[in-house]
Amino acid sequence: MTKAKPNTLTIAGSDSGGGAGIQADLKTFRALGTHGLSAITAVTSQNTRGVTAVHTVPLAHVRSQIEAVFADFPVAGVKTGMLGSAAITRLVAKELAARQPAWLVVDPVMIATSGARLLDENALDALTTRLIPLADILTPNLPEAEALLGRRIGKAFDEAGADLLALGARGVLLKGGHAGGREIVDRYYDAHGVLAFRHPRLPFEGHGSGCTLASAVTAQLARGKSPHAAVRAAISWLDKAFRGAWRPGGGAVHVLAH
Ligand code: PLP
Repeated sequence: MTKAKPNTLTIAGSDSGGGAGIQADLKTFRALGTHGLSAITAVTSQNTRGVTAVHTVPLAHVRSQIEAVFADFPVAGVKTGMLGSAAITRLVAKELAARQPAWLVVDPVMIATSGARLLDENALDALTTRLIPLADILTPNLPEAEALLGRRIGKAFDEAGADLLALGARGVLLKGGHAGGREIVDRYYDAHGVLAFRHPRLPFEGHGSGCTLASAVTAQLARGKSPHAAVRAAISWLDKAFRGAWRPGGGAVHVLAH
């Protein structure tokens, strides 16, 4: 037998196109040397051009997937992605609060780049009051951060970072991709202050990049890195993945298609 790998769990939605969601998470977990477990919250009918349908999984079955996984595997890290509804968000928060995994990364997935809604509008309250306070790291992009704060951020990143931290996560990775400009600046906020990560913008948007980054952070935490080191390693790994990205269908470029 080979040496055991840490087990990492993604609680998220399926992307039939294999670019985002559960599929991106499991590819990332594998690439970074962890064993990927999954609890699927929603099944999207999707390809590189967009989402055509969403079916949320019944609550009892979301719960039983989480139960099955925790009953057997030592879970070193958990990542949440698309949760679909307020009821699923509340359930996931309740299950995770009871189990207290060593690391929890919450990616507050709301709307796909293609415009499809991946979280009901009335789920925002459950996300901010129940799930986010349990998170070690919250990973919003700018539109998600604005939805969580209920206001425009503009260039006031540090104020936004402080207000997002006040929602209760131990750390916030505020992703700067939507800010425009040739360089992307991602900022990580925690009780010690802010760390900025700068990288050049590539000339395409990568479908699934948010899911991939949050999973990479989770895998790095599960492998023993500190939050700072995990965020740094995940961002530089995603940069490399972006450089190998390609277009497997007729639409969006997939970050982890290779
Ligand atoms: N589909 C699922 C299941 C997702 O979880 C996400 C994002 O988190 C997306 C689609 C959207 O991905 P993107 O906005 O990168 O295209």
